[in-house]
Amino acid sequence: MNRLGVLSIKDVLNYNYCPRIVYFEYVLRIPQRRTVKEDAGLEAHNNFVPRAKRNRMEKRLTYDKKLFNLPLHSPKHNLQTVVDCILIDSKENMAIPMQFKRGKAPSCLYRTMKFQLVAEALLIEECLGFSCPFGLVKFLPEEKTLRTEIGFEQKEELKYQLCKINDVVRSEMYPEGPKTQNFCTDCCYFNKICQGYES
Ligand code: SF4
Repeated sequence: MNRLGVLSIKDVLNYNYCPRIVYFEYVLRIPQRRTVKEDAGLEAHNNFVPRAKRNRMEKRLTYDKKLFNLPLHSPKHNLQTVVDCILIDSKENMAIPMQFKRGKAPSCLYRTMKFQLVAEALLIEECLGFSCPFGLVKFLPEEKTLRTEIGFEQKEELKYQLCKINDVVRSEMYPEGPKTQNFCTDCCYFNKICQGYES
């Protein structure tokens, strides 16, 4: 969330990790501390996306335009992001968000990666007017691309989550914790201001 209260995809990912992170960060105003590992990952990503531009895109996709690092903002959903890459098929009025990730591709996309693509699809549809039926994550240097379908259900779930995040901030109500206590051990608030799962 920026100083004007506009949410980012990071807020959606945090909420999916544990709703209390949103509470600590925006109600109690205790910022998350990035770990050394996250700092290194962010720096690597920033250096990595320009190199990814030079890689071959999906051969089987039809597109006539590609945009990189495009900022998008939806006042309606109070959400903004910068999309790594958008492949546009003008004839079909279709646009596909593509994220670039470093490292080995998993056997299927993680929930966080899928939600990031759903959020990007929602913003592309609203800001650019294209339909956005699926999204891609390209893992480099392996050059493996994984795809997820983006339908009505996924977009509605994301809109619901955005409402819940805004509710936590506006109501200042302490939300429920994560789905499993395994998430707590990697959380920057653990054993500082939060005792974890059952507290
Ligand atoms: S320690 Fe656990 S319950 Fe507390 S904010 Fe972190 S993930 Fe959520």
